[in-house]
Amino acid sequence: MKISILRDSQPAESRVALVPESVRSLKNEGDVVQVQSGAGAAAGASDDDFAAAGATVLPNRDELLSTCDVLAVVNRPSTPDIELLQPNTVVVGFLKPLDEPDEMVPFLERGVTTIAMELIPRITRAQAMDALSSMATVAGYKAVLMAADLLPRMFPMLITAAGTVAPAKVLVLGAGVAGLQAIATARRLGAVVEAYDVRATAGEHVRSLGANFLQVDLGGIKTEDEGGYAVELSEEALERGRQLIAERARAADVIVTSAQVPGRPAPILLRTSAVDRMKPGSIVVDLAAPTGGNCELSKPGETIAHRGVTIMAPLNVAASVPVHASQLYSRNVAALLRLLRGADGEVRVDLADDVVAPACITHGGQIVNQRVAVALEAFEI
Ligand code: NAD
Repeated sequence: MKISILRDSQPAESRVALVPESVRSLKNEGDVVQVQSGAGAAAGASDDDFAAAGATVLPNRDELLSTCDVLAVVNRPSTPDIELLQPNTVVVGFLKPLDEPDEMVPFLERGVTTIAMELIPRITRAQAMDALSSMATVAGYKAVLMAADLLPRMFPMLITAAGTVAPAKVLVLGAGVAGLQAIATARRLGAVVEAYDVRATAGEHVRSLGANFLQVDLGGIKTEDEGGYAVELSEEALERGRQLIAERARAADVIVTSAQVPGRPAPILLRTSAVDRMKPGSIVVDLAAPTGGNCELSKPGETIAHRGVTIMAPLNVAASVPVHASQLYSRNVAALLRLLRGADGEVRVDLADDVVAPACITHGGQIVNQRVAVALEAFEI
């Protein structure tokens, strides 16, 4: 397989799809890797590092696009980039097929095969390819550091000659991959942590990290699907959660929110009235900002102040830790590429494979993913 790696098309992006460590392994396994000059610069990987790992470094983006079997990206390439790909090229990356289904049309028209990293199923066999978990891990960690940096208090309890300093109180909403990493990071910094999630199973994980799990009586309704994801709650069930959250928010110095429901806007868990009652100087970091945010006041992509409370709603937290975010993502992508490599070393997209099928969006000039086909239809109506 001939694999191309580009300098990302989004100006604010600092991650790279494959790092030299993965390039070396893929090369040893028989693949050819070509990299655009400067592709890894923001992620700590120089052209020399890529060349030492066995990649060919090319200055010409067009050549990289038009001569590869596989294009590995972080973010979806632009339409002019797509138009330079050969039909049947396979593009692998975060392609947002459900959020922006119409943006898949240029791939379709070009006859390009697309595999969306965010739709890789979370089955045991695909764990090494779980890029969503990789990025959520980085985001959960960094969210706490962002809050700690702005908080006018320290996190740990300190007993000093000048007396005792009380520990910070951190509230985490949504205890999935990002939330659990936020809890672990806040605990390591010495904060007292509590967390809320609608999935009862999250309670065990929260408690195992030394945090208190907040439980709400939702009357025994179904809160998670067969895949272990939260389902969208009724307004009444959401409101019960909000009441408890509002109560606990008064005491919190930091709130990290990460509650999401796949394919849906993020649930509002923190109302303006709850923020109104928070202590001045408190911080909210809303990791659900890319899907609208869990805090009613969040402005995705911005940091705002409301009655002395700072509300951050960052859109690409993983990119602010580019070295490790790229390293983890690169390992996820490399694992997928191995799955796409046939016995003869050439690309083979097997739509009977239970990892490839749900993640493949376009193939052979057709939308092969039912969910995306429905989303696209709804979009076009
Ligand atoms: P996610 O990003 O979709 O959601 C984050 C969290 O928000 C989830 O824990 C969810 O329960 C919670 N949430 C949703 N609505 C809420 C509401 N109204 N109030 C409070 N909390 C709400 O989820 P994720 O972090 O990607 O992972 C979700 C699940 O998948 C978890 O059970 C996780 O352990 C599991 N998972 C499994 C694998 C695997 O087996 N390979 C890998 C990763 C994650």
